[in-house]
Amino acid sequence: MKITDVKTALIGHNIVLRIVTDKGIDGYSEFENTKESYIDALLPFFKPLILGCDPTDVNGIMWRIRRAGAFKPWGAVVSSIEMACWDIAGKEAGVPVYKLLGGKVRDKVRVYNGSFKTEAMKAAKKDENDDLRGKAYENDATPEEVGESMLALSERPEGFTMAKMAFGWHGGVRFFKKIGLDEFGYNTYYDRPEGTGRGNIGSLLTERALNAMIEYVDRLKSVTKDKIGIALDCGPGMTVPDAKRFAKAVEPYNLLWIEDTIAGDYTPWTMAHAYRDLTTSTTTPIHTGEQIYLRENFRELIEGQCVNVVGPDPADVGGIAELKWIAEYADLHGILMAPHGTFDGIFGMAALTQVCCTMPNNYIAYEFPAGNPDWWYDIVEGLPEDYLRDGHVKVWDKPGIGVEFNIPKAEKYLLEKDKDFFR
Ligand SMILES: [Mg+2]
Repeated sequence: MKITDVKTALIGHNIVLRIVTDKGIDGYSEFENTKESYIDALLPFFKPLILGCDPTDVNGIMWRIRRAGAFKPWGAVVSSIEMACWDIAGKEAGVPVYKLLGGKVRDKVRVYNGSFKTEAMKAAKKDENDDLRGKAYENDATPEEVGESMLALSERPEGFTMAKMAFGWHGGVRFFKKIGLDEFGYNTYYDRPEGTGRGNIGSLLTERALNAMIEYVDRLKSVTKDKIGIALDCGPGMTVPDAKRFAKAVEPYNLLWIEDTIAGDYTPWTMAHAYRDLTTSTTTPIHTGEQIYLRENFRELIEGQCVNVVGPDPADVGGIAELKWIAEYADLHGILMAPHGTFDGIFGMAALTQVCCTMPNNYIAYEFPAGNPDWWYDIVEGLPEDYLRDGHVKVWDKPGIGVEFNIPKAEKYLLEKDKDFFR
């Protein structure tokens, strides 16, 4: 089998990659939806490197292209090619991809709600004007209202057992509005050029900001108590002293983890030594890794016991086999695994399910990605009934990553620039 074409399309808010072969078997995967400009720039570089290759030799493909990627977002195309090749390999063999990764060890995989834009919110929709995101995304919401939203998620049939919210510098707007950006830190600069994903932000916190963050956690937990696990996505941008003070102060609240305090999302570095300083200073679990590309760049964090939890995104780290390798290596070092996956859509969710059902018991949960907008669920086939229940996704048994486009339905949503995507 040979790769004859590689295409992408923006469908709704999700960006999809299609690998075309001479055997009529297609592979699909997805990108985080914030990366459109990067993908348009990168695909013309990678495409000639894999045309003519056999996509079922996934290792061979990766050895051709993996060294040409980098930290988020520059590893996105390599990662999505990897996942689409697995989809083809599974379809060619007539088995789900998890069989090719060594087989599953669990029939359902726990997920957590990071984006508050999932099917769980759909059913909670109050009326047509409700944007489905609930109070958790409203910057004016009180901590108590956010806590109520989280409890509502846990009480739905989908029954999320864990939720994560943007916090500190990462979710700063909810604090900046009350405190003022200049009062939040000592040296703040915020600029977010269009299409770059994230701006420059972060500095030593004021005492007032630190107190506001700690008070927020106290009020949130006074509502949620021990009924749903809570993680906070905090950065990057915290200084080491602030991260240590905050992690120490919230120890009594038994958070699942605090994520990306010092380095993280869109930083092309890891600061492993600084993370080790933080992690050894507190019982609050410390998490990072969504920006990191390839297993080699996790080595220092893992071997140095620099964090308690790693969270690579298969759509940035180099794909699902790369994620599996990191999970195994982390497990050998007593480090937990909670993969990132915010906006990678239904194909991203399917790929995460394939790999997470094969991981050892250091696996916690992956961040549940949803199709956006809702009509995505009408253009994709293969998802079983009630696949998301009681905080878990049921592992299903279709060949490849387990979902397919209904092409006649999906074609209607193609933009003019992508009109040849399925041809
Ligand atoms: Mg994050």
